[in-house]
Amino acid sequence: MENIYGLTQQNLEKYFVDNGDKKFKATQVYEWLYKKRIHDFSEMRNVSKSTIENLSKVFAIKKLEIIDKREDVDVVKYLFRLEDNNKIEAVLMNHDYGNSICISTQVGCNMGCHFCESGRLKKVRNLEAYEMVVQLLQVEEDLNIRISHVVLMGIGEPFDNYDNVIKFLEIINNNKGIDIGSRHITISTCGLVPKIEQFADYDKQVNLAISLHAPNNEIRNQIMEINKAYPLEKLILAIKKYIAKTNRRVTFEYIMLKDINDSRACAKELSELLRGINCYVNLIPYNETSHIEFKKSSKDTILEFYDELKKNQVNVTIRREFGSKVNAACGQLRSNYKED
Ligand code: SAH
Repeated sequence: MENIYGLTQQNLEKYFVDNGDKKFKATQVYEWLYKKRIHDFSEMRNVSKSTIENLSKVFAIKKLEIIDKREDVDVVKYLFRLEDNNKIEAVLMNHDYGNSICISTQVGCNMGCHFCESGRLKKVRNLEAYEMVVQLLQVEEDLNIRISHVVLMGIGEPFDNYDNVIKFLEIINNNKGIDIGSRHITISTCGLVPKIEQFADYDKQVNLAISLHAPNNEIRNQIMEINKAYPLEKLILAIKKYIAKTNRRVTFEYIMLKDINDSRACAKELSELLRGINCYVNLIPYNETSHIEFKKSSKDTILEFYDELKKNQVNVTIRREFGSKVNAACGQLRSNYKED
């Protein structure tokens, strides 16, 4: 049976209209699901018995099973079991500006970035929209909190699951439902150029982050397979077009990898590459993992890199480190729990 959390309000309106019913019932159902957070159709008190009966024949209201939960300072990491037994993770971060959730979009990942734990399991499948919605609902319910920010930076490449991700955005952004403001949502991509071009035409003001990680093709080819398909000149051109169309600022994520991309010369080259682009750079201290040989840059190196970018008028921040003790940090999420 189809999970109702995967339906946009328009999908639900269509269902009602197709069944000779009134469109406005979709709004009522949406409010029961997302404002009042009921767990069963029978709790929808202002909806007629026959409507409820029909709904429950076609749709299920089902959550996922939380099979593990680990806490660190300001972080909780969840492991979910999907209905087909695959596993994914989501991470809740408590910032001073609110609660932010990091959502997974696929089981495994095919992008093959050499430094990232998530890609050690190749993509098994895309997540359905409801599987992304439910990550958010269940974390809210479990911690009895409201989430204000969503980042699509968990396991998977969001733009390799484009349609379901857009559906997810529609569902969580709807003000009759979960109502996360589009400016509070960030999609991160390793650089799927055709999808960046497509996303430029998306009508919501969702933030776009690009996992850049290198100032030139030579280094990027060494660490990110995607660069062989979409080298920097194509990526940068797509981003310039995106900015011209949307008038939005993009974020470049840049992991600091010891002796790979962290020299002062790299910082200079990066400043050149980004010159004139409306962006800011988020420097990410690398989280080491036991399976991957890369090392993190020292604090001093990161600060020097930061200073060099500043000197060249690049907007830059250093990402706060979160959750590395419970393997909840960037690049440490994974689907394959069998081996440790
Ligand atoms: N596939 C998308 C979404 C994942 S976002 C993307 O690549 O953007 C996860 C972010 O964490 C990416 O910027 C990724 O490059 C980064 N990351 C991966 N491994 C990491 C690690 N070990 N330490 C810090 N950041 C890492």
